[in-house]
Amino acid sequence: EKKKKEDAKIEGAIEIAIGVKKEVDFSAWYTNVLLKADMLDYYSVSGCYILKPWSYSIWELIQEWFNSKIKEMGVQNAYFPMFVSQKVLEREKDHIEGFSPEVAWVTRAGQSDLEEPIAIRPTSETAMYPYYAKWIKSHRDLPLKLNQWNSVVRWEFKSPQPFLRTREFLWQEGHTAHLTKPEADKEVLEILDLYRRVYEELLAVPVIPGVKSEKEKFAGGLYTTTVEGFIPTSGRGIQAGTSHCLGQNFSRPEMFNIVVEDPNDPTGTGKTYVWQNSWGLSTRTIGVMVMVHGDNQGLVLPPRVASIQVAIVPCGITAKLTDEEKKKVNDACLELEVTLKKASIRAKADMREGYTPGYKFNDWEQKGVPLRLELGPIDLGKKQTISVRRDTGVKAPIALTDIGTSVQKLLDTVQSDMFSKAKAIYDSRLKEVTKWEDVVPTLDSKCVVVMPWCEQDKCEDDIKERSARGSEQTDERAPSAGAKSLAIPFDQARWTPIEPGKTKCPACGTDAKRWTMFGRSY
Ligand code: AMP
Repeated sequence: EKKKKEDAKIEGAIEIAIGVKKEVDFSAWYTNVLLKADMLDYYSVSGCYILKPWSYSIWELIQEWFNSKIKEMGVQNAYFPMFVSQKVLEREKDHIEGFSPEVAWVTRAGQSDLEEPIAIRPTSETAMYPYYAKWIKSHRDLPLKLNQWNSVVRWEFKSPQPFLRTREFLWQEGHTAHLTKPEADKEVLEILDLYRRVYEELLAVPVIPGVKSEKEKFAGGLYTTTVEGFIPTSGRGIQAGTSHCLGQNFSRPEMFNIVVEDPNDPTGTGKTYVWQNSWGLSTRTIGVMVMVHGDNQGLVLPPRVASIQVAIVPCGITAKLTDEEKKKVNDACLELEVTLKKASIRAKADMREGYTPGYKFNDWEQKGVPLRLELGPIDLGKKQTISVRRDTGVKAPIALTDIGTSVQKLLDTVQSDMFSKAKAIYDSRLKEVTKWEDVVPTLDSKCVVVMPWCEQDKCEDDIKERSARGSEQTDERAPSAGAKSLAIPFDQARWTPIEPGKTKCPACGTDAKRWTMFGRSY
C-alpha cells in the first residue's frame, strides 16, 4: 500500500512538467493550473501572490455585480486608511483576542523606531467605528451603510495557499449601523444571499447557507452567517463568505459608544446603542472556483466570469489555399468576433500568426475559455462554425445565421450545466450521520458529516480532537486533520426532523438541537 502511494507520488511528480493529475497530487495540480492559465505568479514575500489579469478580471466581474446589488440596498463605497493605532485596535477584547496572533505591525520608519507601533488592518471594525460614533448623532443618521474594496493583512501561519489563504488578500468589507435589531438581522441575510448568488450564479459553485457555531463565529460578534463551500477532490469544507451581526457589542458605551436617542421611546429620554453588521467576501472565491471546476486540461471558467467567453480559431489554412481563400477565412473570423461582441458576448478571434490551431486550442483550454469556435474554409462553405465546449468537450456545428443568439444560449447552458454538476457532487457528499463510529469513516471518504448536534463548545473541541486521532492522515499538508463545525444549515428540512429531548448528539449523547455540518476544512 505504502509503495503504491510512493509510486503515485512519483508518477505525479513526473507529470508536473506536462500537467499533474488532479486526483494524483491535488495541491501540485492546483498551483500548476494557476500558473499555466496565467492567473498568478509567486512573489518574494511568502504567503503573498501576484494576481495577473486573467484572475483579476474575475474579481472585477464579481466587484461589478456585487457593487450594483449593494448600491440598490443603499450601501455606499468609501475608503479608510490601512493603518490602525494600537489603542483603537485593542479596544474590543474578544475581537483583538481573535485577531492578535495574525496582526502585522509597522514598528519603524526609515531608521527611526516609531514611538508606538501601528497595526495594518486585519479587518476594519476598530478603524472605522470611532468615526461612526462621530458621524451618527441622531436616529436620522441611520442606517449608515458603508463598504470598502481594499486589502487586509492577516499574517497567518497555517500553510498559505494561493487565493484560499494568503497573508494579504483583496476583499470587500461592508459595515452598517441600524436603529433596530430586526433591521440588522434582515440585512445580514440579504447580504448572505448575495454571497450565495456570487458563488452559485456567477461562479457556478454550490454553497450552503447557514449559521456558524459559537466557537467559529467572528471574534467580537453576536452571530456569524456563512455560505459554506466544498472541495470534492480533498473532501474539505471551505468558508466561502461571511455576514456577521455584531449586535451592540462595538457600539456600547465602554466600546465605541455609538448612540442615538430612541425615536420610539415616548418619554424622549431613551437611548439606543446602534445595531451593527459587518460582512466580507474575498478573492478566496477565485480559488474555490478553480478547485471545483478545473480538470486535467487546466482551468474551466464559468461563462459569466470569463473575460473571454468565446475564442475563435481560424482552421484549415493549408499551403493549398490561395491568398484570397486564406483572407476569406481570416476575415470571417474577425467578422464573427464583431458579431458576437455586438450581441454582448466577450469574444476574441485568435489571429496570432506562427501558431498552429492545435497550439491555440490547447492554450485556450488551459486558460479555461468556456467555448471555442473553429472556422475553416469548409465550415464557411456550409455557413457554419464548429463549437467545442470546454466543460464537456462536446463538439457541434452552429449555423452562422443568428449566431449571437445561439452562442448566448449555449453559454447559458454551459453555465447551468457546470452548476448542476458541481451541486450533484456536493449533495452526494453530505452524509447524514447519527452514530459516532460513522464520523471518521465518513470524513475519510471525503464527505461532510451532517449530524444532529448539541451545539456545545466543549463538544466541538472534543469532536475535533477525536476525529483527528482516529483518522488516517493522508495529506501531511493538511492544515488540520480534525473536523470542525462548518455550518448549521438554515435549511434543516433537508434532514430527518430532530425530536426535542429524544434525538441525541452522536458525539456526547446529550440532546441534539440542529443538524450541523462537520468536516475537515481549509
Ligand atoms: P472574516 O472577516 O474572518 O469573516 O473573513 C471574511 C471572509 O474572507 C471569510 O469568509 C473568508 O472567505 C475570507 N478569508 C478569510 N481569511 C482569508 C485569507 N487569509 N485569504 C483569503 N480569504 C480569506
